[in-house]
Formats: sequence, structure tokens, C-alpha cells
Amino acid sequence: MDDIRVEVAAVTASEHVLRERLRREAGRYASLAAVATLAATLTDVLLVAIALQFLFRLLKRHRVTVNELQGLSNELRGGMAELGRRNVEMSLLAQMARTLDSSMSLAETLESISVFTVKLMQDTSGELFLYRNSRNLLEKALQWGEPSHAKDAIEPHECWGLRLGRVHLVQGKDALYCPHHHRDLAPGRAIVCLPLSAQGEIIGLMTVEMPAREDEDKELAAGRVNLATALAEQLALALSNARLKEVLKLQSIIDPLTGLFNRRYMDETLSRELSRARRKACPLSLMMIDVDHFKSINDRYGHEAGDAVLRTVAEQVKASVRDGDLVCRFGGEELVVLMPECDIHDATARAEKLCAAVRSLRVSYGGHTIGPVTASFGVASYPDRATDETSLIAAADKAMYRAKSAGRDRVVVVEIPVAQEA
Ligand code: GH3
Ligand code: MG
Ligand code: MG
Repeated sequence: MDDIRVEVAAVTASEHVLRERLRREAGRYASLAAVATLAATLTDVLLVAIALQFLFRLLKRHRVTVNELQGLSNELRGGMAELGRRNVEMSLLAQMARTLDSSMSLAETLESISVFTVKLMQDTSGELFLYRNSRNLLEKALQWGEPSHAKDAIEPHECWGLRLGRVHLVQGKDALYCPHHHRDLAPGRAIVCLPLSAQGEIIGLMTVEMPAREDEDKELAAGRVNLATALAEQLALALSNARLKEVLKLQSIIDPLTGLFNRRYMDETLSRELSRARRKACPLSLMMIDVDHFKSINDRYGHEAGDAVLRTVAEQVKASVRDGDLVCRFGGEELVVLMPECDIHDATARAEKLCAAVRSLRVSYGGHTIGPVTASFGVASYPDRATDETSLIAAADKAMYRAKSAGRDRVVVVEIPVAQEA
């Protein structure tokens, strides 16, 4: 039993030693496990942090890209709007060019310019001046909007644009103002003076008052000046053409010696006036005037002296007629006066006055005094002496020849046809 006890004690002791050893090892393993777990956790945290940073960077880059895209999209939208505006401007300029090309007179040209300028130069006001023939003054031909510096006429030296012969921009406090500007130009406004030049000649001036804020897009402001410049170039050409057309038209209807209308114009006007007289049931009278013994004036004083006499008689006749009457050189030394809404009695009285006025004329030429100059007058009227253009002219002509045969320097009225009188 004692042996057994000793054996048991020995076994128990070794078991104890073993258990102690096992407990120590278990403790070591537990510490190791804790360290491993801590390390794993730290690694996880690190990985998550790296992943988060990566994600954050990605998001940031994405945000930058989105912003960039947004900026690009805004730029694109702005560009599209600008392109759209340019497109409208180009199409309006083309439309204006076609309209101006088809304008028949200076008045029509100015009217078209007025309409298109308002459409093209929105948010602006301005004026257009044209040189007088004497070239000492520019008179206002049109205005749009309400320019703060409006004037009816300006002298050429009053504008830097005209003096320098190029576009002159007045903007800001330190700008070089033209004398025709008001110095108190509202802040945020600019004025541009554009000389209108065509075929090597300055024919006028366009002034445009436009918005020009400091913070405004520079391209937009420059675009407005460019548009005004393009417009001024087109207008100058159109106005110069319109003036040329007017001169040609006038040349085609005016007799160069006397400045009276020519026969072609009288023919057109006579048929128009006769239609009007028929429509309105009004009389229309015609006076045929022939200078007496004109050939002998030529023979005695020379052809140029004859011209001077003809011019003087023409001036006298022109000065004696009413507004609405038409005086023309029918040919040679024969003149015709067309008198709408004037009956035979009125026409006769006026012819008598004119006959006396011509008789009193004295023409000084080449040291000679030519006169008295006389003329013979024939008067006829629609509807009681003639029915159409041909019979009206023929009746007046016949009466004039009767005045010649009766001794000249007198007025003869065409007789009422016997049948009609009856
Ligand atoms: P009558 O009293 O019968 O009308 O005689 P007249 O001499 O005026 O008429 P006639 O028809 O014999 O002569 C007209 C002259 O007018 C002939 C022509 O040389 C001249 N004449 C026509 N046109 C002009 C012109 O533009 N200038 C000048 N100086 N003479 C002209
Ligand atoms: Mg004659
Ligand atoms: Mg004659």
C-alpha cells in the first residue's frame, strides 16, 4: 500500500508538472493568438484605410471630371448660343443685302436700313448721317432707339471717326470724345463712330451707342463693334448705289440745258395725270409755249446766247407754276406746262400772266442785253377740249400755232368743238 501510495504520489507529482507545463504552453499560445489577432485587425484596418483612401481619390477625381465636364458643357452651350446668334446675324445681313439691292430709291433704302438695323443691333441706339452735296455738313438721315447724343446735323470736323477716316470707339472715362458727343455718357455705355465709306469716298457717318460693362465678356463687346463695322460697310455701299441710281434716274428725266423735265417724263406723267383726272372727275390743263423768233436770237447773238435765253425763260416758267404742276422742255424752244385740277379759265388766266412775265424778261449775255423776249401760248383742257393725251397735246399745239399766226406774243385757247358746243 505504501508503495502504491508512493507510486500514486509520484504519478500525481509528474501529472502536476505536466499540467503546469501544459498551462504555461496554453498561456503562451493564447498570447500568441492575441498578438496574431491584433496584427490581423491592424492589417484589416490598414487595408480598409488604403481602400478608403483609394476610393476617396477615385471619388475626388470623379468629382473633378464631373466639374470639368460641367464646365465644358457650359462652354459648349455658350458657344452654341454664340453660334446661333452669329447665324441669325449672318442671315439678317444677307436678307438686308438682298432687300437693299432691290430698293428703288434713297428713301426706300433708308427705310430698309432702319428696319434691319433695329433687328441686327439689339440693345443699341444710333444715328445715320449723310453728307450734303456741298460736303460742309452731314444731315441726319435716320435714327433708331433713343441715342443720348442725338443731333440733327454735324459738321465734318466734329467727329474723330470722320477726321481719321476709321472706326472711333469712345468707352470709359479716359476716352477721346468727339465734339458731337455729350460728355456725360452713362456708365456702362460706349459710342462707336463709323465713317460710311464706299468707292473711295466717305459718304456719311453711323454712330452706335451700345452697352459696354466692365465685367462684360470682352468677346461679346468686340462682337458688337465688329457687327456694327460689317453693317456700316454694307450700308455705305447700299447708300452709295442708291444715290447713284437717283442721279441716273434724274439724268434720264431731266433736260440738262434747262433743268426742266424732259419729254419722256412728260409723256409718262401726262398719261398718269389723265387717268387720275378721269378717276376723280377733275379737269387737267396743258399749256404749250413756243419762244418767238428764237432762230433770229441765235443768228444775231450766237447759239450760246440762245441757250441763255432758253434757260431764263425756263426759270421764269418754273417760278410761276404751282406745286403739283409739271414744266417740261417739249423740244427745241418749246415748253409744256401740265396743270392738274386746273380748268380752262384758270389755265388761260395763268397763261396770260406768264406771257406778260416773259415779255418783261431781259437777258444779259456777252455784253449784250437781249430782249424783249416773247412767246406764244396755246391752252387746252381735259375734259371739255380734249379726251386723251394725244388730242390734248394736239389741241394746245394747234392753239399755239394760231397765236403765232395772229401775231405772236399772245395766248390762244383752243375752241370748243362745234358738235360739243351744240
Ligand atoms: P417762231 O416764232 O415761228 O417760233 O420762230 P422761231 O425762230 O422761234 O422758230 P423756228 O422753228 O424757225 O426755229 C427754232 C430754232 O430754235 C431753231 C433751232 O436752231 C433753235 N434751237 C432749238 N433748240 C435749241 C437749243 O437748245 N439751243 C439754241 N440756242 N437753239 C435751239
Ligand atoms: Mg418751235
Ligand atoms: Mg419759236
